[in-house]
Amino acid sequence: MEQDDAKLQFDENGNLRHLLSLKGIDAILLTELLDDAEGYLTAPGALPARSQSLAGRTVGNLFFEPSTRTRASFDLAGRRLGADVLNLDVNTSSRKKGESILDTIYTLEAMQVDVMVVRDASDGVPAYIARNVKDHVSVLNAGESDVSHPTQGLLDLMTIRQHNPDFKNMTVAIVGDIQHSRVARSASEALQTMGIGELRLISPPALAPDAGRFPGARIVDNIADGLKDADVVMALRIQRERIGNLDGVPGIDEYFANYGVSYENMKFAKPDAIVMHPGPMNRGIEIEGALADGPRSVITRQVTNGVAVRMAVLDRIGRIMSTQ
Ligand code: ASP
Repeated sequence: MEQDDAKLQFDENGNLRHLLSLKGIDAILLTELLDDAEGYLTAPGALPARSQSLAGRTVGNLFFEPSTRTRASFDLAGRRLGADVLNLDVNTSSRKKGESILDTIYTLEAMQVDVMVVRDASDGVPAYIARNVKDHVSVLNAGESDVSHPTQGLLDLMTIRQHNPDFKNMTVAIVGDIQHSRVARSASEALQTMGIGELRLISPPALAPDAGRFPGARIVDNIADGLKDADVVMALRIQRERIGNLDGVPGIDEYFANYGVSYENMKFAKPDAIVMHPGPMNRGIEIEGALADGPRSVITRQVTNGVAVRMAVLDRIGRIMSTQ
């Protein structure tokens, strides 16, 4: 992401207009978004929080890669703020017939879609769209190649803050396919902005990140060292769809034995350490199923927080729309 793209996220008054990356989102704005999101949480069994802050607006979900949680939560978030939500069926959309992404966007603009929520397998697509939409339209990145997944980064930050708000004295360990993970990138950007004490990225050497991709993080290839005294342990799926050649990547049993997050190796972490996973999970590969379902797991809390942070982001960009 270029520096210009970080600036492109704000309007001339410094208000958030697009969310393309967590780079360029400072600690004050991250904290405000998390605080707003907390306000959308309700007790289990209670009705979900609602407002009319996006009433009359239309949110378009354009997912050119598979999604369950992100797509469903943007859909619910938009509806719970009173917006109309259009879920474009990409399998039957004209992009399959060769239409360019911008022609698809211009078509939705002509139907008065105000917010384009975009997931795409190629680098740079959300920023490219943001540069080309009309002044009143906002673009939200819902997953960009292996580069960025900013609302996932926000929900992860929120979940970690609920466990312990003292980022400066905290160790977060992310385990798995770091090289191809946009989740790790966005989490790392947010945690560095918040002044994280130590961020460790643990993977087999074949899935380690390229040099310079994670400034400030410690790269580790041994899970016992990586999890030692960690406060937070996040497991990641192997991103097979982004790996051309699996040479050097351990087979399933070897992978689980050496890099799977399990009851056995959680013994290295702090006794109250939480276990996270962005989903979808491959039980028995990157995480032990019983651990994912057990008391240390905050995986379903991450999902709940995902709706809340997406409401907070939609509400925030909606504030500048209502003044137009
Ligand atoms: N759902 C997350 C993403 O879209 C993580 C994953 O797919 O493994 O990046």
